[in-house]
Amino acid sequence: MLQIRDLSVEIEGKRILHDINLSLGAGETHALFGPNGGGKTTLLMAIMGFPRYKVTKGQIIFKGQDITGLSLDERARLGIGMSFQRPPIVRGVKTRDLVTACAGKRGDGDVINSMTERLKMGELMDREINYGFSGGEIKRSELLQLLAQGPELVLLDEPESGVDLVNMALIGQMINELLQKDLKRQRTRSALIITHTGHILDYVHASKGYVLLEGTIACEQEAFEVLDSIKDNGYEGCVKCLCLKD
Ligand code: ADP
Ligand code: MG
Repeated sequence: MLQIRDLSVEIEGKRILHDINLSLGAGETHALFGPNGGGKTTLLMAIMGFPRYKVTKGQIIFKGQDITGLSLDERARLGIGMSFQRPPIVRGVKTRDLVTACAGKRGDGDVINSMTERLKMGELMDREINYGFSGGEIKRSELLQLLAQGPELVLLDEPESGVDLVNMALIGQMINELLQKDLKRQRTRSALIITHTGHILDYVHASKGYVLLEGTIACEQEAFEVLDSIKDNGYEGCVKCLCLKD
């Protein structure tokens, strides 16, 4: 589904990511851990294709196609979607209009209405995007946009940040459903999820975890193993410990 080869990225002339290699199969979910400023958000923004995040080296391959030179909207049309750590407020545009735009031609009104209800978004649909929304409301709105878009590759930047425990359960279940695609068919959607607390891993099965430290992937192991190691030894200690095991 996604292959990242020797990727280096800079923002405004500052090199943030160095030689990142990562491979995500169809139907797989991988988790990204790491301290603040490690480059996690930069990696997702670069995969999505935000123009400020300049690829200086390497390639991003999506379903066999080199998308490194494609624009953000071309990548979205190909089937990549993202929810943001801190999405912007957009005055003058109703949430409903954005969700409808996300659904595009494939929009099935009944499905969207049912998702809206389950995500408890009813009253928020006619409000301006993220304007005065609580932490949980922002994340639920982000998720509804993704459910409407239905991307094959889902990039989630800290879906649990600012979310209380009850909202967390709801968001966790809905993310799981988003990745499941269609219960009758084999799971084919893939996800890359940034998580600090690991709470999302209680709902979504992640097979692999990475620690991103100072712009490089410092370790790559089974997701819960990485999480436990970070809890026990911190980020730096986790890297040392896991490397010793290899
Ligand atoms: P994380 O998501 O792991 O906390 P980020 O990817 O947000 O890390 O940030 C990685 C580094 O890139 C940080 O040192 C941050 O200050 C820097 N950075 C992010 N945006 C910019 C920018 N617009 N200009 C310069 N540096 C930036
Ligand atoms: Mg971040």
